[in-house]
Amino acid sequence: MHILVTNDDGVTAPGLLALAQGMARFGEVSVLAPDHDWSGGGHVKTLRRPLRVRRVRMADGSSALTSDGAPSDCVALGLMGLLPHKVDLVVSGINPAANLGHDVTYSGTVTAVMESIIWGVPGIAVSLDGGDVDSYELDYQPAVEIVTQVVATVLTHGLPKGVFLNVNVPNLPLSSIKGVLTTSQGLRVYRDRLDRRVDPRGRDYYWIGGDRPTGVPREGTDVGALAAGYASVTPLRLDLTDHKQLEAMQDWRWQPHLAFSETPVFSKNGH
Ligand code: MN
Repeated sequence: MHILVTNDDGVTAPGLLALAQGMARFGEVSVLAPDHDWSGGGHVKTLRRPLRVRRVRMADGSSALTSDGAPSDCVALGLMGLLPHKVDLVVSGINPAANLGHDVTYSGTVTAVMESIIWGVPGIAVSLDGGDVDSYELDYQPAVEIVTQVVATVLTHGLPKGVFLNVNVPNLPLSSIKGVLTTSQGLRVYRDRLDRRVDPRGRDYYWIGGDRPTGVPREGTDVGALAAGYASVTPLRLDLTDHKQLEAMQDWRWQPHLAFSETPVFSKNGH
């Protein structure tokens, strides 16, 4: 088996090395990761400039490829023919912070795996709930053990086409992790605040600041699993269709003229 290992924290990140070493037990591992930190960079396709790729050595002396593209570009490059052998699985991580609920749309770790799905290759994203701990101070071994279990289980059961897995691991010693729960996406609570400052030329500029997101730790969700000391595995799809609403809208009549009204767009039972 040939596994492509990538991440969104850059080729020098300690979580990438730990993951690459862990995946080696399944077969051939190719590392192709961005040359800098793309965290929060989302799903990117670089079309307006060339992509450069160069060979580097990781901290253990093993060889890796690095590109100036996004994590999703790295996966596209790898799957479009840059790697000489066919890739059977893409594993992305280990991110030093959790990717829960709506985070998956921001996360370079998860969107790298979304790209693999577009190319018909199964993928697994792995994040460690490191919180404010420096990424070099984290112990990635528990997450390596969990993702090894996940890969082994996926090899037994297989994954339907189009389904990828978002794995989150609590920052606990392996013996303190209560197990692995299969979950749905939970609700993230973002605490972003706009920080407006003035540059030396007197013009305004902005930082999106604020505090780390929290979440609603509902049972059965990714947020709930981590809060209870479990690792979380969430099956996801790129198809974001709301099937309940699709059903409800079968009765709608699309009106030929704009009906201007003061009615709020979100209905009372809406979001
Ligand atoms: Mn990251």
